[in-house]
Amino acid sequence: MHRPSLKLRARAALLAGSAAATALGLAARVIAATPSAAPGVYNVEPAGLCPRPIAAVMVDFTDAPIENPDELRARMEDLFFGPEGLAPYYGEASDGQLTFVPLEGRPEVLGPVGLDLANTCDAGAINSGTRQALAAQGIPEEDYAHLSIWFRADCGWGGLGQQPGSTTWMPTGGGTSALIHELGHNLGFRHLSAVTCDPGTLDNCSDAGYRGSSPMGGGGAGSGLSAPELLHMGWVPQARHVTTTAAGTYTLRALHAPAQAEGTRVLEIPRNDEGDRLVVAYRANGQTLDVDADTGVQLHLTRPDAYHPSQVVDPTPESNENDSNGLVPGASVTDHTSGITVETVSTDGDTATIRITGGTESPAAGDPDHGINKQDTDATYIVFLLCTSGPPPGPL
Ligand SMILES: [Zn+2]
Repeated sequence: MHRPSLKLRARAALLAGSAAATALGLAARVIAATPSAAPGVYNVEPAGLCPRPIAAVMVDFTDAPIENPDELRARMEDLFFGPEGLAPYYGEASDGQLTFVPLEGRPEVLGPVGLDLANTCDAGAINSGTRQALAAQGIPEEDYAHLSIWFRADCGWGGLGQQPGSTTWMPTGGGTSALIHELGHNLGFRHLSAVTCDPGTLDNCSDAGYRGSSPMGGGGAGSGLSAPELLHMGWVPQARHVTTTAAGTYTLRALHAPAQAEGTRVLEIPRNDEGDRLVVAYRANGQTLDVDADTGVQLHLTRPDAYHPSQVVDPTPESNENDSNGLVPGASVTDHTSGITVETVSTDGDTATIRITGGTESPAAGDPDHGINKQDTDATYIVFLLCTSGPPPGPL
């Protein structure tokens, strides 16, 4: 039996009936990474454990100060570091490899800091002004890996995040879903949209908008990250990530099962010689971060050298509700590009059994040559980004 993470089980209650949580994710915008300054050098931790200091700061415009700083400070403390907040979310998603932490020796939330700016939605001016104001107070850029700026303005969006990068901009009304979403952009994630295709195939797929399955697809804080997003970060251990075209029956452990649960989490199927891949994972409601997610086998269109953008295939286009992207038992999808059919045989709360037909005869599961080089390239890149010093890479 699985043991859902206790600390996250309450999230369902927190978000129950809260359409705003999803709406916030969708309302959020992304800004291309044009850092006005490098994020600086921060402490290098042993491999596999990367606390990332995040400066969560309230800022006052000359004509629009934060209305109630004490109240906002308390809310931000909860949003960033509380039991349902940003830090435990990514801690769980990364199996402890990524931890957002306050600046050493500082309060969890900084400010309010006065900017020499009148009310504006100019993200670049707010960013540089905040960094200068913090430096003037003895907090240089070297002290933080991320900067999350909270301010009072009506900009028409729920949040902004460099993609990838270090800065997020949050109007004071922002919540957990928006914060997780924008920090996802900082980690390089693009938006996760759904596609619908000709029934039972991957032919003539077209964009179907956001249908959940990740905070990057409007799923809010009640959804775990998608399988490609986890692969992008190197958060799926190699032993749990199988690349294969071999016909056969496979058992998939729920993608967001607790870290100690053994078994394959992600199946990756090469589609052609150009690098297109089909990523298959099982999402099960109630497994740690997936408190609101629907239960079903998910197919994603992606590439191993760029997992951060992907699309989830919605095999039930007649239902456009969030998190209805699962391939239910008995259903199958045939990919005419690879000649492979993926069928969900059965599911329970912990595992899914899927069948691949039309593939190669020789078993390739566990094959040490299963595209590891490209995967490693991606993972190594991200580990470098997370665990070593230096400026973030340019826009991806
Ligand atoms: Zn976004």
